[in-house]
Parts: sequence; C-alpha cells; structure tokens
Amino acid sequence: MAEYAVVVAGGGPTGLMLAGELALAGVDVAIVERRASQELAGSRAGGLHSRTIEVLDQRGIADRFLSEGQTVQVAAFAGVPLDISDFPTRHPYGLGLWQNHIERILAGWVDELAVPIYREREVTGFAQDDSGVDVELSDGTSLRAEYLVGCDGGRSLVRKEAGIEFPGWNPTTSALIAEAEMAEEPELGIRRDARGIHSFGRVEYEIRDGEVVYMDEGPVRIMVTEEHPGPAGEPTLRDLSEGLIAVYGTDYGIHSPTWISRFTDMTRQAAAYRVRRVLLAGDAAHVHSPVGGQGLNTGVQDAVNLGWKLAQVVNRTSPESLLDTYHAERHPVAARVLRNTMAQVALFRQDDRIKTLGDTISELLSMDEPRTRFAAMMSGLDIHYELGEGHPLLGRRMPDLDLVTANGPLRVFTLLHDARPVLLNLGEPGGLDITPWADRVQLIDATYGGTWELPALGAVTAPTAVLIRPDGYIAWVGDGTDTGLRAALTTWFGSP
Ligand SMILES: Cc1cc2nc3c(=O)[nH]c(=O)nc-3n(C[C@H](O)[C@H](O)[C@H](O)COP(=O)(O)OP(=O)(O)OC[C@H]3O[C@@H](n4cnc5c(N)ncnc54)[C@H](O)[C@@H]3O)c2cc1C
Repeated sequence: MAEYAVVVAGGGPTGLMLAGELALAGVDVAIVERRASQELAGSRAGGLHSRTIEVLDQRGIADRFLSEGQTVQVAAFAGVPLDISDFPTRHPYGLGLWQNHIERILAGWVDELAVPIYREREVTGFAQDDSGVDVELSDGTSLRAEYLVGCDGGRSLVRKEAGIEFPGWNPTTSALIAEAEMAEEPELGIRRDARGIHSFGRVEYEIRDGEVVYMDEGPVRIMVTEEHPGPAGEPTLRDLSEGLIAVYGTDYGIHSPTWISRFTDMTRQAAAYRVRRVLLAGDAAHVHSPVGGQGLNTGVQDAVNLGWKLAQVVNRTSPESLLDTYHAERHPVAARVLRNTMAQVALFRQDDRIKTLGDTISELLSMDEPRTRFAAMMSGLDIHYELGEGHPLLGRRMPDLDLVTANGPLRVFTLLHDARPVLLNLGEPGGLDITPWADRVQLIDATYGGTWELPALGAVTAPTAVLIRPDGYIAWVGDGTDTGLRAALTTWFGSP
C-alpha cells in the first residue's frame, strides 16, 4: 500500500492549492482526483478577487494568472459595483479568468512541485486509527496517510463518511447555466423580470475601459433562473430550452451544448472542519449561492490557511492542536460569506418592496465608508483572524511593502515565496534574537519609510517588527520591545 503523509481527495482549485502548499513545505502529499485530466466541462467560476491574487503573489505565481486574464473591478454587493481602485494593495482589482484556466495554471504549478495525482480514481471510503488513515480508492486499492483532507466539493464523500453535520438552508431559487451554440443571435447582457436574473454572454470576451465586450462569435454562456428550485440530477437541453422560452419567448435555436448545469442558493457549512485525522476545505466545507464570486476564492484561501499548519504538524514542528486554529479561523470567514450571499440573494428578489430595500442599500453603498467596508469584505482584503487584543495589524494580512534591506530593495511578498514564516525587524538592526527558531523562521532586518495603511481601516501606527505567518497574516506586532515574541513563536512555530 502506497504511503503518504497527506492524501488530498479532490484536485479542484482547493485541493490543488493545498497540495502545492504542502509540497512547498516538503510534505509527501498525493492527490486523488476523479477526473481523467484537469479539463473542466464548462467554465464555472469567473475569476479571482484581490486577496486571492495577493495570496498567489505571496507564492510568486500571481503573474501566471494575471498574464492570462484581464483585471477589472469585479467586487459588488447585490449587483452594486464596489470600486477598489483606491485600496492600499498592489492588486486593487479582480481578475476575469474562467475556472478551467485557473485550474490548469494551478495544476501546472503542482506538477512543477512533483505532486503525484492519482487520476480517474475516487476516494470511496476511509478508516482512521490513532496513527493514520486508510483511504480506499474506486480501483480497489488503498493509500495510507497520516492525514486525509476532503477537497472533494459540495457533495463531499469525505465529509459524509466522517459523519460531519452540514447544517444550513435548502435552496429557494435555482438557475440553469450552460454553454451552447445558438442558431439565432440572443440579446447579450442581463435581463431581470419577476422570475429573477437571466443573462447571455459569450465565453470569449475582452475588457475594454472596464467594460466586458463579448466577441462576435463563439459559444454562448447562458444563465436562466427557474420558476421553482429545480430537482436534483443533471438538467437536459430540453429543460434549458423550456426555461429560455418561458423567459425570452424563444430558445434562439439552442443546440450543441458543451455543458448544462444547475446552481442553487443552497447554503450550508460543515459543523466541524476536522475530525481527528480528517479535514475539510473548500466547497466540501461550505456551499452557497455563487453571487459575488466567492466560492473558489474562499476554498483557495482555506488551503493556504491549512497548508503550513498541517505541514508543521506532519513535520513534528508543532503539536496537533495547531490544527484546531484552522477551524477557529476559517469557519467564521466562510460563515460570513454564507451570510452575505443569503442577503444578496434576498435583495435580488423582484418584489417591489425588496427592490426598494435594494435601492436603499445601493444608496448606502454610494457613501464612502460603507463602500470601503463592503468592498473589503467582498474582495477578501478585510479578513481578520481573532488573535487577541492588540495592534490593528494583529491577525490581519501583511501588506506587500517595498522594503529596503542591506542587500537592496525587497518586496515583503518575495519573502513568502517558500511559504516560510518571517520575522521582519524594522527597528534597530540585530535588535531581535530568535536563535532557537532560526531553522524555521527567517529574520530580516529592513527599513520602511512609508505609511502603513490597511483596506477599510486606513492608516495604522507603524510597528517596529512583525511576525508574518506563511499565509501572510500577522501573528505578533512589535512596539519597540520583544514582549510576547517568544510566546507567539512557540504558539505558531513550535517550541524552541
Ligand atoms: C455557476 C457558478 C459560478 C461560480 N462563480 C464563481 C466565481 O466567480 N468566483 C468564485 O470564487 N467561485 C465561483 N463559483 C464557485 C466555485 O466554482 C467553487 O467554489 C469551486 O470550484 C470550489 O472548489 P473546490 O476545489 O473546493 O471544489 P470543486 O471545484 O468542486 O472540486 C472538487 C474536485 O474533487 C473531485 N472529486 C469529487 N469527489 C471525489 C472523490 N470522491 N474522489 C476523488 N475526487 C473527487 C472532483 O472531480 C473535483 O475535481 C461558481 C460556481 C458556479 C456553479
């Protein structure tokens, strides 16, 4: 039986990112993926939010995505656009790039990191004991791992087999989504009616002056809201045709679909992200309406939160209790995404009174403070892990500052490329001593003359030092002394 430190069930965006993070940390990891290749029938998610681009930039791979997609202001709440071009980040925008491309680029990175992928095989069950997990595969073989992570999507077998509750709300609305050819030219763009929102676009598009401009030819991407939440099971071309006729009076001669699917606003979250040696991440841990484009982003960021922690536990640097911080930090983040999607779905209802409520929200969001707060939420830039009282930077993302070091200029994110923690000393050079952690934590003396500014919060007092976790969040802030530094190093990066 092949043995790995970690087996990841599912090689979608979350599983790929997690495997990459683990491999960077030197962990022996393998992915088991049902699909024969990374090809995705249909395009699914439309792109990345600012914080996810930052997270990829922390690993030095953001340019691979940026060079294939198009940057655009994508953050929005209930259809109200939220411009983030004035935000203090190197990436004050989102990226329009279909999920099939995102997965292909991530898979290329994982391939460079030499992660084995068992393709055309499913995880069909598992049994965990005190020292590991036996993972059963659909071809009758098994793998042995110290930990199993279910990144196997919303219908997660790992979640079900682990007996993890998935409480939440049943769907109230559903939409058919498809890519197909049409004999007649449909009216491209969005239509709203009593039933909800519908749209036609082309898979191929360009962004010119911040506007989406569709190509003249090529497959059409269709979304049509159904009158009642559709049944489980795969929708057919006939369902799609009937849905179109009900809304547009014609199906535009639709034919040759490459993909037909249905999404709903089902909203559920795993009650626990870990049961002993089995963990969940991405859609396996949370499902919600796609409004706001947050699912893939949340999954990738789950992976980046979990990767280094699991690596340290597997490498015996940290006790298993470090894994409890994964649920403690990431469950509230997804719970907030669930709440904001439920609110947005409600605001999209076409009742006159709800519409008035939507107009009121829109008016509020035209004011600067609500706009910055909501934009920071939708772009993921305001994520704050509860690491206790203290400086506003504590538990927040480290900005990608332009530092000056004895060896020349240096970007903070460059220091995170290897997913290793950093103690950034901005005070007296040589003023901090972390010898017992020298094998785990990089100590960098640098200066930074600019202001420290956080999205939505604004300027904050400049710290004299910051301890940055591999996921880019700040675990300790110096105020001229090293009070609390040893405790923070021990909590996050193990005993001296
Ligand atoms: C119409 C639509 C639009 C969306 N738009 C956006 C958007 O703009 N932005 C955004 O962030 N998100 C968006 N999403 C959500 C996004 O697609 C998902 O959140 C994302 O794919 C989740 O990634 P994942 O890796 O967690 O799960 P998945 O992408 O579902 O990947 C799970 C993987 O596990 C494999 N698998 C499943 N079971 C097993 C098993 N037992 N054994 C082995 N392999 C298995 C599957 O083949 C799959 O490859 C959208 C979703 C839809 C439907």
